[in-house]
Amino acid sequence: MLARGPRRAHLCCPTIWTLPVIQLQPMRFRTSGSCLSIALLASLLLTAAARAENPKTFDWDALTREAAALLSDYIKIDTSNPPGNELPAARMLKEKFLKDGIPAAVFEPFAGRGIVAARLRGIGRNHKALILLSHMDVVPANAKEWSVPPFSGQVRNGEIWGRGALDDKGPGIVALMAMLAIKRSRILLDRDVVFIATGDEEVGGKSGAGWLTEHETNLYKDAGYVLNEGGGIRIDPAGHLFYSVAITEKSPLWLRLSASGPTGHAAAPPAQTAVTRLINALGKLVDYQPPIKVLPLVQEYFKSLAALDRNQSRLLDLQKALSDPDFQKQFLAAPRDNAMVRDTVTPTVISAGYKTNIIPSSASAEVDCRLLPGEDPGAFMKVIRELINDDNIKIEQVLSFPTMASPEKSELMNAIATLSRRMDKDAPVIPAMLSGFNDSHYFRQRGLVAYGFVPIELSGQEGRMVHGADERIAITSLRGGIQRMVELLRIMGGQ
Ligand SMILES: [Zn+2]
Repeated sequence: MLARGPRRAHLCCPTIWTLPVIQLQPMRFRTSGSCLSIALLASLLLTAAARAENPKTFDWDALTREAAALLSDYIKIDTSNPPGNELPAARMLKEKFLKDGIPAAVFEPFAGRGIVAARLRGIGRNHKALILLSHMDVVPANAKEWSVPPFSGQVRNGEIWGRGALDDKGPGIVALMAMLAIKRSRILLDRDVVFIATGDEEVGGKSGAGWLTEHETNLYKDAGYVLNEGGGIRIDPAGHLFYSVAITEKSPLWLRLSASGPTGHAAAPPAQTAVTRLINALGKLVDYQPPIKVLPLVQEYFKSLAALDRNQSRLLDLQKALSDPDFQKQFLAAPRDNAMVRDTVTPTVISAGYKTNIIPSSASAEVDCRLLPGEDPGAFMKVIRELINDDNIKIEQVLSFPTMASPEKSELMNAIATLSRRMDKDAPVIPAMLSGFNDSHYFRQRGLVAYGFVPIELSGQEGRMVHGADERIAITSLRGGIQRMVELLRIMGGQ
């Protein structure tokens, strides 16, 4: 599928990433005996100007209308992955930035695949840039399961419907509109903000963030922080608001199992066929109960949630609570909770045969395993092999990468806490582990602090629409997301 070699294209201005910040270079001049750099003077003036800036100067109604229309258009561009085809979406976003005078560029790493980046210049050369990361590709949608065509971008009952509304086109539009709002209000931040929307995230990101971090190092070489999907403003079952910030994730280990056997007439079957062998193997994997392990981060996560809700006091010490078999059974019955305390093994793709009365000579399955941070994939493979205990079954690794964590304490985490204080009555900010994975690890591997946090408020019910049918986002959530993102950029930008 990715036949052609890497190529770059559509650079509106190949040097935008390395241009000096207007004239604010450290040229020095003397004023009444003291030596001030122009940059410092400008910074002081601008800080004063920014302080005078009234947040009410933002026209939130107009920004929300614009965001809703843009998101609807964005959803209409079918970026189902495979094959992705993100290029038209990348071009649309680039044009939007250019119209407001924010330099932007599109990269085409492989034919039809797109990445878009834009940079809002700040005035603080000493502050590391903040990357707002999102992805343009979406998982496929089966129109039969939907109440509206999944790529219609329909606006209904105050919601924008369509594949990608939450994952991850909505968050991308929140980031984009926040940058436009800052630019239009002439607020100068003391650091650069870089928008990056990748492709290919939904199948592992090798042709998206993986390619970008390897080939376009200029885009992020001055950056220290990444805000990505994977966390956000959540509401617990009792209605308490909290900020979930993903600092690490489970490590994927995707396997392909292949079985072989004699072909022939299904009316006279041999004792074992490729299909029966595969079913046997999968049966053993499905029955496997990986051991429970409560990592310190997970223990703390549940403790913080328990502190919000008196009814959840048992979660104050999850490790201890899980030693009670009844509680354990109840806890593990919730798939998301189960995934937080153990490795998981999930068969997802099965293929074999083409006609009812013909025994096929081969059968295969794909299995999605997710390992807790720190688990050794080699040791896990050994467990899988011993469980299956059948030399006929070939086991290959399709995808595996080690997990990395960003520190819990950082300038960005402080800014998120300040955001909570200013906008959400000091709702607790809780570092979390993601049971899935996203593009953050590509940036963590390059030494950047990457958090999963999108400042959009989502209930558990809304969160479950991700990758499901009838995915949609409320226009009020979009508005709140933009308002909070503007505030977060201001905080990170020294205001
Ligand atoms: Zn996503």
